[in-house]
Amino acid sequence: MVPNPQAASDPSGVEHGRAILIAEDDAVFRRILEAWLGKWGYAVTATSDGQQAWEVLQREDAPKLAILDWMMPGMYGTELCRKVRTAGGPYRYLLLLTAKTEKHDVIAGLEAGADDYLSKPFDSNELRARLRVGQRILDLQDQLIAAQDALRFQATHDSLTGLLNHGAILDALHRELERGKRMQSTLGLIMVDIDHFKTVNDTLGHLAGDEVLHAAAQRLVSAVRAYDSVGRCGGEEFIVLAPGCLPPELVTQAERMRTMIASDPFVTSAGQIRITASFGVVGASVAGEDKMERDALLRAADAALYQAKSKGRNRVECAPMTAVAAH
Ligand code: GH3
Ligand code: MG
Ligand code: MG
Ligand code: MG
Repeated sequence: MVPNPQAASDPSGVEHGRAILIAEDDAVFRRILEAWLGKWGYAVTATSDGQQAWEVLQREDAPKLAILDWMMPGMYGTELCRKVRTAGGPYRYLLLLTAKTEKHDVIAGLEAGADDYLSKPFDSNELRARLRVGQRILDLQDQLIAAQDALRFQATHDSLTGLLNHGAILDALHRELERGKRMQSTLGLIMVDIDHFKTVNDTLGHLAGDEVLHAAAQRLVSAVRAYDSVGRCGGEEFIVLAPGCLPPELVTQAERMRTMIASDPFVTSAGQIRITASFGVVGASVAGEDKMERDALLRAADAALYQAKSKGRNRVECAPMTAVAAH
């Protein structure tokens, strides 16, 4: 049965603009499918060969919905299903469309990894409805991925400033140390503590204090390089990781951040306030004989920050390289 494509035409349908792949070696059948899918609003990519279809499906922007013939040159539809499932990546909804009608064929098709199975000849409305089932599943998958991304973001970011949270910046430090070992490179670490922050809360209130923290975090981020990481360690303390950066460049970078914080007053809903921050920096080799481990780096930066505080605040102090190597 070859239904009339016009009968199912609905340009405003849920299919509108959705990408779909057809892999079908029979030219007449492929054109009929293309015509139907086009009328229903799909953006169709058509191939006549299983190998070509596999290449399309491997692309990052590949259609997530595919209609696959079973018997095709290049690669059978069932083999294609198996390869897609083994490859992983974003889920592809695969509908096998084949002249094979036996129960054991249906089972073999589904076992190969197809999500659905339709035997030729078939009813166009049934195909359309089955594709909509596929879309619902793909939509659910998109929602699930978005929810997972949001959860992952929440688990790794500080809600007030949007920066990496304490755990995440320490994870980033761990990763940078591992990478540094592999690449025989260096790592710069800057510890930041806002000066007399208690006064901000005492003067303008805790809410305005939060606004200042948020804005200060933005200023810190605006002063670092794209591949540096900035995290909030809690309270009014921050850590910046600057891979491959050693003094004196590291000190220059910290000076840039210090100036960003101190230069202009912070405007809050309770009024304006000027703040300053103190910086403790350490730059060290993280590979080889004199490499520094995580705790030694953190201790050295903390000691330098303590120096900055005790020398009057609003300044950058650098851990001496000799002292660093001795840790
Ligand atoms: P110092 O120059 O020695 O660092 O002085 P300080 O006042 O900044 O340091 P201290 O550690 O004594 O106080 C930190 C203050 O930061 C106390 C606390 O109320 C405030 N604080 C910590 N977390 C937050 C926050 O999330 N929001 C607000 N508004 N204040 C916070
Ligand atoms: Mg075929
Ligand atoms: Mg503090
Ligand atoms: Mg402080």
